[in-house]
Amino acid sequence: MTSTNDIRSTFLEYFAERGHQILPSASLVPQNDPSLLFTNAGMVPFKNIFTGQETTPYKRATTAQKVVRAGGKHNDLDNVGYTARHHTFFEMMGNFSFGDYFKAEVIEFAWNLLTKGFGISKEKLLVTVYSDDDEAAALWRKIAGFSDDKIIRISTSDNFWRMGDTGPCGPSSEIFYDHGPDVAGGPPGSPEEDGDRFVEIWNLVFMQFFEEAGGKRSALPRPSIDTGMGLERFAAIMQGKRDNYDTDTIRALIEASADLLHQDADGHFKMSHRVVADHLRSTAFLISDGVLPSREGRGYVLRRIMRRAMRHLHMMGAKDPVFYRLLPALIQQMGHAYPELVRHQALITETMRGEEERFAALLTRGLSLLDSEMAQLSDRGTLPGELAFKLYDTFGFPLDLTQDVLRERGHKVDEAGFEAAMAEQRQRARAAWVGSGDAAVETVWFDARDRFGATEFFGYVTEQADAEV
Ligand code: ATP
Ligand code: MG
Ligand code: MG
Ligand code: MG
Repeated sequence: MTSTNDIRSTFLEYFAERGHQILPSASLVPQNDPSLLFTNAGMVPFKNIFTGQETTPYKRATTAQKVVRAGGKHNDLDNVGYTARHHTFFEMMGNFSFGDYFKAEVIEFAWNLLTKGFGISKEKLLVTVYSDDDEAAALWRKIAGFSDDKIIRISTSDNFWRMGDTGPCGPSSEIFYDHGPDVAGGPPGSPEEDGDRFVEIWNLVFMQFFEEAGGKRSALPRPSIDTGMGLERFAAIMQGKRDNYDTDTIRALIEASADLLHQDADGHFKMSHRVVADHLRSTAFLISDGVLPSREGRGYVLRRIMRRAMRHLHMMGAKDPVFYRLLPALIQQMGHAYPELVRHQALITETMRGEEERFAALLTRGLSLLDSEMAQLSDRGTLPGELAFKLYDTFGFPLDLTQDVLRERGHKVDEAGFEAAMAEQRQRARAAWVGSGDAAVETVWFDARDRFGATEFFGYVTEQADAEV
């Protein structure tokens, strides 16, 4: 069996042999980019090179980039546990051309790596192109020998990439793998596309235009290439699995979770083990890149991820802090490729244990309150917003933690009611504020509080301009 670690090296070496500089993964905290919550694609560290603000000594690069998609425009948190192909943390493999090669070469590179390098059968693959990209369609016909029914034309933004409201943009072409008719789902562009049968494995972005404010587009003098391939999805294919969570690395984490709790990995708590394995990776990698659980911004997203994992562990019977005890299994799987995990092992361990200790008593009490409230709800009933707010305010339950519990039983939260309760509390705090008597100072203070308060919900209230790939 080809291990995930081997696939990562093979990918990087393949592109190194073709003139690409292998670069280490950048941090999950984007450098000089306050608009972006986390690095959510392989191209993020190269944004300034693509816009021409920075130059590099090399024209081709390849990376395995750590990526987190748990907030902002790309938020896969609610997919975790439910789909076979989404994680909050994953590795995006990529090859990049900075004004060097373009469409023909990148399609050829990708095709040869998949079918010759990794030996994937052509019959299992199909592609999408942007609706008017005849050039890409013709290249796929020529290079892969595909008939037109394997080249699906898509006219939505799924196949047209933009860095932001202005700047580099262009059509993309995505490569899909068909896991076969036993898996539910339809081909890209069909009404059933959101299943696990046809899995998107590799997105090739052709940056060929520059878009100005107002939408005027001009051709870039030297077009560029950005690609993103999901390592875990690819590993599933190479390992003969239909589910990312059955691949070597992630399965080892699931088994560690099952062992720790003396549970069957595939039994009643199957989904919880998947969530824990996923959240363990995002937690450890975020902490090792300097994010700490906190009340706002990035730290609050991390806290939400950690508390969700703890809730699942609690549900499986954990009484004492246990989440941190899974870290050695992760280090064993990924510590070689990502030595920062080893370097920061003590910090990650202490941060995980501390957060668990702080939250343990609140979690138990909050869950028993939630349980008794749920017992009173009718079938598919909605939890009142004030209760979700009480859980948030008194028990430290992020809204999405409450929603995660409710979803398992077919319930929802009255979100508008939750927001209203939150706004009301702000008002009360304002009214109760005796203050300094200096109205100007108070206005500033409350404005800041409201603003930063809002960032606690980063991820579904604020939408940020960020990259697709
Ligand atoms: P999907 O449509 O399946 O959600 P995407 O179009 O959002 O994927 P891209 O932004 O094109 O994904 O990212 C490039 C590649 O990264 C994808 O082709 C896929 O292989 C992988 N990928 C994207 N999101 C995830 C995720 N949450 N977990 C694992 N791999 C992912
Ligand atoms: Mg997506
Ligand atoms: Mg997609
Ligand atoms: Mg895509």
